[in-house]
Order: sequence, then C-alpha cells, then structure tokens
Amino acid sequence: MRYSGLRVFREAMTGHKGWTPAWRDPDPQPSYDVVIVGGGGHGLAAAYYLAKEFGQLRVAVLEKGWIGGGNVGRNTTIIRSNYLLDGNQPFYEFSMKLWEGMEQDFNYNAMVSQRGILNLFHSDAQRDAYTRRGNAMILHGADAELLDREQVRRMYPFLNFDHARFPIKGGLLQRRGGTARHDAVAWGYARGADQRGVDIIQNCQVTGFRIVNGRVTGVETTRGFIGALKVGVAVAGNSSRVMAMAGMRLPIESHVLQAFVSEGLKPVIDGVMTFGAGHFYVSQSDKGGLVFGGDIDGYNSYAQRGNLPVIEDVAEGGMALMPMIGRARLLRTWGGIMDMSMDGSPFIDRTGIDGLYFNGGWCYGGFKATPASGFCFAHLIAKDEPHPTASAYRLDRFRRGAMIDEKGQGAQPNLH
Ligand SMILES: Cc1cc2nc3c(=O)[nH]c(=O)nc-3n(C[C@H](O)[C@H](O)[C@H](O)COP(=O)(O)OP(=O)(O)OC[C@H]3O[C@@H](n4cnc5c(N)ncnc54)[C@H](O)[C@@H]3O)c2cc1C
Repeated sequence: MRYSGLRVFREAMTGHKGWTPAWRDPDPQPSYDVVIVGGGGHGLAAAYYLAKEFGQLRVAVLEKGWIGGGNVGRNTTIIRSNYLLDGNQPFYEFSMKLWEGMEQDFNYNAMVSQRGILNLFHSDAQRDAYTRRGNAMILHGADAELLDREQVRRMYPFLNFDHARFPIKGGLLQRRGGTARHDAVAWGYARGADQRGVDIIQNCQVTGFRIVNGRVTGVETTRGFIGALKVGVAVAGNSSRVMAMAGMRLPIESHVLQAFVSEGLKPVIDGVMTFGAGHFYVSQSDKGGLVFGGDIDGYNSYAQRGNLPVIEDVAEGGMALMPMIGRARLLRTWGGIMDMSMDGSPFIDRTGIDGLYFNGGWCYGGFKATPASGFCFAHLIAKDEPHPTASAYRLDRFRRGAMIDEKGQGAQPNLH
C-alpha cells in the first residue's frame, strides 16, 4: 500500500477500513542470504538498503524485543552534520543528504524537520574552534554560519546574555540540521524493507553464533537456529555482549544516557540549541514539550533508566542557559544504553570471522547517522568493501594509531 494525501482522504471517507499492517509478522525461515541482528534504526536501514540498493533478496532482521524499542525510539531526535574531522564530516554529510530525501524514498512521514541547530559559544577560544569547524563543514559541502551575539539574541531573546557566568558570545548555526521523529524512522525503514521482501522477526533474541572453520554459518536464537551466508550485527548498546558470543572483545564501554521532556508549552524554541559551557541541549517537540538532555550517567551500566545526580546536572545546565525553563514542569525522563567507543567515533567493519560484520560504537550520536550507517553497512555486507565515506570506521584503528577523536578527549569513553 502506498501512502498519500489521496489515500488518507479515501480512508477517511470509507471508515478507515482499508489500512493494512505496515509490515508482516513472518516466522523465521531456516536460512537467509543475510541476517541482520538488531531491529534498531541502523539494522532496519541496513536491511532496507540491502534490498533496495544492493539487490539482496533473502534478508532477515532479528530483534530481541520490538522494533523501535531500543535507542532509535529513545533519543532526542537531533540530526546534523556539523563535524570537524575528515573521517567523520563526509559520512555525516552523506547522512544529511539521505535524510533530505528519505521520506519520499521510503514513502513514510518521519517528520524530518530542518529547523536548524545552533551551537552557542561563550569565549573567544571557543569561537575560534567553532569557526574552524564551520570552515571544515563548508569545505566538505555542508552548510555553516557563524552568528554574533546580536544575531543569536534576535533568534532567542530569552537566553541569559547579560548576567550569566558564561555569557553567550555567538553561535555556529547549521540551518539544514534539525530533528526527525525517531520511532517513525524505524517504522519507515521497517515498512520499506518489508515491502522489498525482508523478514522482520521480532521477539527473536540472538543467543550465539555458529562458526565453522573461521566462517559464520548462522545464528542461534530463542526461536531456533537460523542459517545465514552473512551476518551483520547492529545492536548498539548491546554490542559488547553480542560480539562476545563470537569471541570478540570490542573497544566499547556501555553507559546510560538520559533524556527529558517538559509539559507542553506554547512555541518558544523553533530550532535545536546547544549550550557551549556545559552539557545541555534543547529543542521543542510538535506537541510543545521541551525535549532536552545532557551528559551520560558516568559509569558503566546496562540499565535503560538513569539516576538523579544527572537529572540535577542537566537541570542546572538548562537554568544557566535559559532561566525561564525553571518554571516548566518536567514530565518524563528515560534512558538508553550507549555503546561508547574509545575515541567517540563508530565502527562499520568486517571482523576476523568470515561473513560476520559489525556496526556499532555510535555513542550518543547515532540517530543522525541512521541513513548513512544503514547504507554503508549494506554496502560493506553486499560488496565486502567499505563505502568510501565510512572507510575510516575500522576496528583496528587504535592499533594503527588512526583514532577519530572529534572532541580531543583521548581514550575516555565517558567524556566523548
Ligand atoms: C537519551 C538518548 C538521546 C540521544 N539523542 C541523540 C540525538 O539527539 N541525536 C543522535 O544522533 N543520536 C542520539 N542518541 C543516540 C542514538 O539513539 C543511537 O546512537 C542509535 O539509535 C543507535 O543505533 P540503533 O538505532 O540501531 O540502536 P537501537 O535502537 O538500540 O537498536 C539495537 C537493537 O538491537 C536489539 N538487540 C540487542 N541485543 C540483541 C540480540 N542479542 N538479539 C537480537 N536483537 C538484539 C535491541 O533490542 C535494539 O532494538 C541518543 C540516545 C539516547 C539513549
């Protein structure tokens, strides 16, 4: 079924009896050409592009819970390509270009909203760093504008410009950045993949890999053994646990990241804004809630919920930037598990086991990467060679001294 304005009109006139399920609920087949482990945004996007762009016909996505139940449905929905380093910038700009045509491509409303993202700066040194980043973005074909204090004041007059400990001096604006409805991205890719013959199998946890003579031959699951010529793993916060079943130890730690939403307010913030003197970022949802977040909880955990000290820390960041947020009531908080890599950058790579591919280490920036990550993972699996924009995301980069340390923090996963 194709979705369109006409279809909505026709269904409205006929009692909405013609809608069909957005994807099937098939039983697993004994074997597939490609099995993707993890029905998050990255796994579903990889399956979609495998079927659509790379002609892979027998593909399955195995999800231990329900699709969209992981980080893809828990993040703060920000998309952007405002990166500095060579290994990152072309990849995230490729992702941004895919976001721009994605809804038409998979015929699903993912509410992609290019409302702009503004990174505030509070010192001369920070302005210089942001100028450099903006120039790197422009050189790679992205858009960037450096705003002075008065331009920022005109956009957001309610920010604390005059009496703050870290007064706002300006901001780096990427107008093409913005937000997308996170769970709709998973649903759109799931529906598009299903229409192209991909089996999406929920409630199917992978519990082991069958490896014969150094080659993967399939996966053990809670619904029995499923054979596969190739297996791609995209399980985000569970990466270390899943890859350990294949005997691999990853340069990844798992941490909790929380997100927050206030009660619904009248429109006040039309874009996305990040505080430059602390970790706090905020946007406003279509329902009116202020959606915001900050740092990870700071210790390793697999719990999908956070703790009070970080709630206090994030609230302090919000108060420092826009004191009027103190009058809004916090409605909900939740958490997701972050696969924090040692340099803050991800992996899309082959492994030492033939036919087994790994995608992970997205830290808390993987949502914006969803389209490009899916595309590049599909490219790697289908062609057995990395996509040109993802060629830096190798597992052996630490051994080679080729880190992609965007923040310059060193091997401190909790700080990336
Ligand atoms: C609070 C929060 C805010 C964030 N904000 C942003 C943001 O604003 N912008 C941004 O770019 N990124 C953001 N992120 C990060 C982003 O959400 C993640 O990097 C990204 O979603 C991870 O990829 P995924 O969608 O494939 O992960 P997931 O949705 O977590 O998918 C992985 C799936 O694998 C499944 N799985 C695990 N183990 C198994 C198994 N053994 N067998 C089968 N299935 C298994 C899980 O159930 C899960 O559904 C945020 C994350 C959080 C938690």
